Amino acid sequence: MQQLSLCPGSFALEKEMGEPETDNQYAKWGSLIAAYIEAVRTKRHNKPSMNLNLQEMADACLAKANQAIEDIRGHIGAGAYNPADEFWSVEIRLWGNTQLGHRYSGRFDLGVLNKTAGIGIIVDDKSGWGDIPPASENLQLRTLAVLAYKHWRVNNIFVVLNQPSKGKPSVAHYGLSELIAAEGEIESYVNAAYTPGADRRPSAKACKFCSAKIFCKEAMEVFTKTATGEIAGDWALALDQLEVTELVAKDLKAKAKQALAANPKAIPGWHLKEGYERTSITDPKGAFGRLSDTITSEDFMSCCTVKIGELATAFQKRAGIRNKKVARTGLEDRLSGLLDKKKSEPSLERVGSSEKEAE
Ligand code: SF4
Repeated sequence: MQQLSLCPGSFALEKEMGEPETDNQYAKWGSLIAAYIEAVRTKRHNKPSMNLNLQEMADACLAKANQAIEDIRGHIGAGAYNPADEFWSVEIRLWGNTQLGHRYSGRFDLGVLNKTAGIGIIVDDKSGWGDIPPASENLQLRTLAVLAYKHWRVNNIFVVLNQPSKGKPSVAHYGLSELIAAEGEIESYVNAAYTPGADRRPSAKACKFCSAKIFCKEAMEVFTKTATGEIAGDWALALDQLEVTELVAKDLKAKAKQALAANPKAIPGWHLKEGYERTSITDPKGAFGRLSDTITSEDFMSCCTVKIGELATAFQKRAGIRNKKVARTGLEDRLSGLLDKKKSEPSLERVGSSEKEAE
């Protein structure tokens, strides 16, 4: 919905090109975490197996969602809200029609409906680290609030953006007047997207998840302008445009790789170079056991690198510390004099986009 609000023409182009989204490792981890969360919430199937870090993220999503729901109940007050009247649903897609008859839909991770109290709660779990607009500005959640309002016929909807990597869930409340305004806003984006010849407006935010980037004349024009230095001198504009060109370039490479994988002769002058094979030891203790007749433990340890993040997680668990930051500080205190800290190069960031600045 954010993409449609910024670039209404992307809807028709994506449909026309029918390009599937490029799959990546993060998307696969996200799907695993979502399957784990769904299994716990519905108890319909077994939890998928996954590494400790992913499992911790899934457990954090579950715990923080429950806490957010508990906080909303508390905010409404025991007299006006009885949890026994709640109906919980998981991974449901809701459909709506605009006044012009255009169809749109949204799928929520968790919905809690309390008809008696006239309240609905929508939870959207985000297991990644990416910057996502807070609940009050989030158009995906606003769409879900509108759809829930239409289906559930309650006049109070709470939306919860549950992203444990960013701390506490972000919560927004839509009362009746806000729901009516949101319905008008969201449906205006949908109507605009269905309008033949709708505008295409490239920007980093609009193009980020658009699957039609490499077929889009407007995005390619930005690419060409950057390449020919047409915007030289205007740094802010150049950086804005560069974000679009980087997105297009990344997508172009991914699609070229797919084409060459399907047909090695697809692109004259190019071929897919075999990836490097990396060998790693999955069981250091077992490996040393097999080599200890030849090398000393000092030899072995001098070849080992310890991942500080994973060590902090293990330390937190063993020491029974609830807070991740406290565990990390405790670990670093214990390892004082044995740590080497290096600061990476400063990076470019838009003003207002980091959490610190937002606070
Ligand atoms: S690439 Fe960008 S400008 Fe082109 S259709 Fe997609 S979102 Fe719109």
